[in-house]
Amino acid sequence: MMKKYCTLCNSQDLKYIKYLKFKNNKYYLYHFIIFFIYKVLPISLIEQLPLKVKSVLLWGIWLPNSKIKHCNSCGYGILENIPNLKSIKFWYDNEGQTSNLGIKRLSRANSQFNFINQNIDLNKIKSLLDYGCGNYPDLVEMIFNQNDKININVSDISKLTTDILSKKSFIFRAYQATTPKEISEKFDFIILSHIVNVVKDEFNFIKEISSLLNIEGILLVEIKNCDLDYYKYCKKHFPFFNFFDDNSFQKMISKFDLEVIKLKYFGPTNYNFFKAGVDKTYEENDNGIFLRYLLKKK
Ligand SMILES: [Zn+2]
Repeated sequence: MMKKYCTLCNSQDLKYIKYLKFKNNKYYLYHFIIFFIYKVLPISLIEQLPLKVKSVLLWGIWLPNSKIKHCNSCGYGILENIPNLKSIKFWYDNEGQTSNLGIKRLSRANSQFNFINQNIDLNKIKSLLDYGCGNYPDLVEMIFNQNDKININVSDISKLTTDILSKKSFIFRAYQATTPKEISEKFDFIILSHIVNVVKDEFNFIKEISSLLNIEGILLVEIKNCDLDYYKYCKKHFPFFNFFDDNSFQKMISKFDLEVIKLKYFGPTNYNFFKAGVDKTYEENDNGIFLRYLLKKK
């Protein structure tokens, strides 16, 4: 049973927000039917179906009428009914990979690379982990091109993805990992690009990630900027499980041995992204839809 208070700040000033808002009511019924079909068919059978059918059935991993519990005091939000691990793996084997970003993929990697290169000395980094790397390791390749002495490691939840990654010449090791604690090494630099919002139990996750960092190690985190405008304009929140604005994210980070050394906002505003269809760049923007942090391990 979901707790009736905010697990980040204990406030009881909560608001429940629909996870999937459809324009037409009939889609709620469709969603329920798809959810039911997904529930009764074994995943091994669904895997055999044509791609188009599979991508429709993928909607079934989200429980119809799910709500986000949003805290009005600190800004933290969490999905009430997070799919089980099998469903999450199914999702990442079939959807949700960076390839879906199309040409924006390189634009994001470029923007992240410049941010890293401007703020940290890559010559001092000996080892790196891109946790939840996805199929296209553009960013770590750019880092490798800048300093090929860095030992580059990646991880992903999907075995299909780690099989692809392990064939790249600049990648030392590709871990297939569901949680950070399955990784035994320590690193000078860890990248979490659009990962925190999609992990179960993000508090424990950050704790585990932090334990993979060497002292004074650097963590790059990029998350969605889920401020009040986000909730106002975004109608479908999948595949995200947790939601932070700058206030709630820094509140969470303060519980761990990490300190914020840099924060910048990137991308269009939430209004422009969801309402005006402006979805082109990853440029710096005072109120952009992405929060990009550099954190240092104390
Ligand atoms: Zn709160």
